[in-house]
Amino acid sequence: MNRNIVVAKFGGTSLASSSQIKKACAIITADSARKYVVASAPGKRTSTDIKITDMLYKAHAQSVNGEDFSGTLNQIAERYAKIAGELGADFDIDAEIREISDRLKAGTTADYPASRGEYINSKIIAAYLGWQFVDAAEGIFFTESGTLDEAKTFDTLGGILKGLDRAVVPGFYGSLPDGRIKTFSRGGSDVTGSIVARAVGADLYENWTDVSGMLSADPRVVKNPRVIEHITYTELRELSYMGASVLHEDAVFPVRQAGIPINIRNTNSPEDSGTMISASVPEGVKRGAVTGIAGRKGFCSVRVEKSMMNGETGFGAKLLQIFAQKGIPFEHCPTGIDTISVVVNGSAFDSRRDEILREIKSVLAPDFITIEKNLSAIAVVGQGMVSVKGVAAKIFTALAGAGINIRMIDQGSDEMNIIVGVDDSDYENAVNALYNAMVNNA
Ligand code: ADP
Ligand code: ASP
Ligand code: MG
Repeated sequence: MNRNIVVAKFGGTSLASSSQIKKACAIITADSARKYVVASAPGKRTSTDIKITDMLYKAHAQSVNGEDFSGTLNQIAERYAKIAGELGADFDIDAEIREISDRLKAGTTADYPASRGEYINSKIIAAYLGWQFVDAAEGIFFTESGTLDEAKTFDTLGGILKGLDRAVVPGFYGSLPDGRIKTFSRGGSDVTGSIVARAVGADLYENWTDVSGMLSADPRVVKNPRVIEHITYTELRELSYMGASVLHEDAVFPVRQAGIPINIRNTNSPEDSGTMISASVPEGVKRGAVTGIAGRKGFCSVRVEKSMMNGETGFGAKLLQIFAQKGIPFEHCPTGIDTISVVVNGSAFDSRRDEILREIKSVLAPDFITIEKNLSAIAVVGQGMVSVKGVAAKIFTALAGAGINIRMIDQGSDEMNIIVGVDDSDYENAVNALYNAMVNNA
C-alpha cells in the first residue's frame, strides 16, 4: 500500500493530558506521511474524570437555566492552562474562555461551546508541533437542513489542506450556511477524520484510540476479547451501529466512497498493528464465520396482531408510517402471518407512546397490541456466515446453554448478521455466551 498521505485522528483519551499529547505527537512525527492530524477534545484521564466536551455542555445548560457557569469555565481553563503549560506551548487560554463566556451570555446554541473543546485542543497541539492550525468551520460545511454538504466540503477543505504541508484540524464540527457552528453527534471527531482523509485523497485514515483495534466484543462486557485483524466497511458499520462504539457509525461513509482504508490503532501501544478496515478482506487473512458481536440495551418491541393481516395490502407500510410520522426510526421489524413487531428505541417510544398507540388503533384496527420493554438487541456479524451451515443453531444452543430466553430473532437479508433480542437483564450473559461459542471457540 502507498503511504504517501496519512490522516491521523486522535481521540479524547489519547489527548487527555500533556503526557498523552506528547505520546500522540511522537507517533505523528515518527512517520512523515502523517501530514494531517484531526484532534478531539481532552477526554478522561481516569475513569472518574470528566470530558472537556461534557463540561462545555454543562456550562451551556447552566447558562440556559440562568445559573452561574463561571465555575465550570474556570475548570476548563485550568485544564487547558495545565496542558499548554506542561507542553511549553504559547497559548492565550483566557481570550478563548472569554469568548465562550460572551457567546453563552448572548444565548448561543450548545453547538458553539461544545465545539470549543476540539478547537482549543487543536490550537495547542498545532502550537506544540509548530504546524498550521486549520479551523474546521472554514472547510466543513453543513446544508440548511443539517446534513453534510459533501461537494462543497471536499472541494474547499481539500483546497485548503493540499496547499499546506502539514496541518492540525479540530474534529467534531463544521459550519452552517449562515456561518454558525454545528457539531456532529457525540464521538463525531471520527467523522471529521474520515472527511479530511477523503478531502486530501489520503492513502490511509488512521484512527488512534485507547484500544488496540476493533475488538470482537465490547471489552466492558467480555474479558479480553480478541482484536479483529481485518474487517470490511460493511461489517464495521453493522457492528458500530449495533453498539461497538470504538468508531462513530457514520465514519465509514466518506472514506468508503473513495476506497481509503481505515486503521484503528492504540496510542498507548503503537507497536500493535490494530484493525484494518477496507472493502474486502485480503486473501490469506484467517477469519472465522463470525467477525464480531455487538449489542445495545433499552429497546422496546411493539407487537401488532390481526387475523388475516397478510391479506391486507399495505398493513406493514401503514404501521411503519405511523412511527415515521412521530419521528421514531425503527430498528427491526420481524413479521409473522398474523403479527408484525416494530422494534424501536425504548425511551424515544415512551415519549410518544400514547399518540402512537391511538394512531395504530384508529388506522389499523388490530386485534391486540403488546408492548415488550427492556429488550436488548445483540448482533452476531460476519461476512463468512453466509457460506457456513449451522450458525443459527449454534447461536440458539449457546443461549439455551446459558439459560437465556430469546425474545426476538431477525436475520438481515444479506445474511451477514443475525440479531437476537434478549431481556436487558440477560444482556451481559448473552454477549459472553455468544462470544465464547461463536468467536473464541469457533
Ligand atoms: P476515542 O476517545 O479515542 O474516540 P472512544 O471512547 O470513542 O475513543 O472509543 C474507544 C472505546 O470504545 C474503548 O475504550 C472501548 O471501551 C469501547 N468499545 C466498545 N466496543 C468496542 C469494540 N468492539 N472494540 C473496541 N472498543 C470498543
Ligand atoms: N469531543 C466529542 C465528544 O466527546 C467528539 C469526539 O470525541 O469524537 O463527543
Ligand atoms: Mg470516539
